[in-house]
Amino acid sequence: MVEIAIRGGTVVGRNGSRRADVLVGGDGEVIAVGEDLRGSTEIDAGGCIVTPGFVDLHTHLREPGKEEAETIETGSRAAVAGGYTCVLAMPNTTPAIDNASIVRDIQELGRRALCDVEVSAAITVGRQGEQLSPMAELAELGVRWFTDDGDGVQDDHLMRRAMEYSVPLGVVLAQHCENSALSAGGVMHEGAVSSRLGLPGQPAEAEELMVMRDIALARLTGARVHMMHVSTAGAVAMIRAARAGGIAVTAEVTPHHLSLTDELCAGYDAVFKVHPPLRTASDVDACRVGLADGTLDCIATDHAPHTPETKDLPFDEAPPGMIGLETAFAVANTELDLPLETLLDRMSWTPAALLGRPDHGTVEAGQPGDLTVIDPDATWTVDAGACVSRSRNTPFAGRELRGMVRHTICGGELVFRGGEVQR
Ligand SMILES: [Zn+2]
Repeated sequence: MVEIAIRGGTVVGRNGSRRADVLVGGDGEVIAVGEDLRGSTEIDAGGCIVTPGFVDLHTHLREPGKEEAETIETGSRAAVAGGYTCVLAMPNTTPAIDNASIVRDIQELGRRALCDVEVSAAITVGRQGEQLSPMAELAELGVRWFTDDGDGVQDDHLMRRAMEYSVPLGVVLAQHCENSALSAGGVMHEGAVSSRLGLPGQPAEAEELMVMRDIALARLTGARVHMMHVSTAGAVAMIRAARAGGIAVTAEVTPHHLSLTDELCAGYDAVFKVHPPLRTASDVDACRVGLADGTLDCIATDHAPHTPETKDLPFDEAPPGMIGLETAFAVANTELDLPLETLLDRMSWTPAALLGRPDHGTVEAGQPGDLTVIDPDATWTVDAGACVSRSRNTPFAGRELRGMVRHTICGGELVFRGGEVQR
C-alpha cells in the first residue's frame, strides 16, 4: 500500500506548529508525525507549511446544467490545485438541488471527485422562494447546509418558517444577502463609480437589509444562520453587534471582497462583475478587520465559473461571478496582514467546523489524511489560460501573488503534486 512521507516541512494545525515529517497511509489516515519518516512516495516539503486541507463553504460546480463551464470533476481538480480537500457544492444548478433524488446523484458524482464534495440543498423548491424544500428528508441524506444562493429568500414569513424547521434538524441556513427589490437592475455597487460610469448600481443597503432581517429572525427562532459573501462595512458591523449580543450567526467573506474595489469596473470588463458587487475601499477594509477579529468566520471562494461566450458579453448583460479556488490562498496571503496561523484557521479548520467536521484541524496520527503543502513565500503570476478550472473568468489574471500550493493529499491520495493534478 502507498504510504506518503511529507518530509522537512513545518506542520501547522489548530493546536500550534512544529517541524516534523508526516506519514500518510493509503487507507486515508495520518499514520505518524515525527522525525525522519520514510514512505513509498516521498515529498520534499522543505521551506513549506503542511496543514489540514482547505475547506470551501461556497463552490459552484455547475453540474447539472452548465457542464460547459464546470463539472463536479473539473471543479474538484481546481479545488485540489488550490489546496482544498473539501468543497461544498452550491445548489443553484439546473435543475436546482432541491429533492432527494438529485441530492443522491450529486453525492454519487462527488464520490468520484478528487476532493470531498459535500452537497448543499435549496431552501425553497426550485429556488423560487415560494415553498420550502423537503428539508427533513434531505437532512436524512446528510445535507447540513441549505441555501437559495444566487438569490436571497425574500419572503420574511417563509424565511422564518425555514428557520423554525431547521432548528430540530440541526442544519444551517446560509443566506445570499440581497434584497432583490432594492438591488433590481443593478449591475455593480451603487456609488460614485457607478454614477461616473453610468451603470445602474446595487446599494449596500440591499445587502444590509437582509443581514438585518436574518439577524432578527435568528434571534426569534434560535436558528443557525450563515451570512454568505459579506461585502459591506455596515453588514460587518451588524454581524459583530449580533454576535456580541449572543445571536449565533456566522459569516464568510470572499477573497475578491477582501482585495478588489468597484474602481475595477471602470474598464467595463465583466470579469469584475459579481454579486454582491465589488464595493469601496472602506468596505474592503471593514471586511479585512472583520475577518481578523473573527466577526467573519472564514474565507469562502464563491467560485463561479462562466464560459467566455457568456462572460465576454457587455457588462450589463454578462452573468455575475468569478472563479476563485486556485487563487484564494495566494490572494489572501498576499493581500491580508494576518499571521499565517490565523489565515489557515479562516480557510481550513473554522469552515470545517461550521460544516460539521470538528476533527479537521490537527495533523496527528489517526486524523484524516487531508493535507495541503504550501510555500507561503513563493511568488507566481496568475495566468487565466493556465487555470485548472474549465473556466477562466479570474479577476486576478496578470497579478503577481505570493504563496503557492505545492501538493494536496486527499483521503490519503496524492491528488496534486508539484503543481500537477495527478488524475
Ligand atoms: Zn451568492
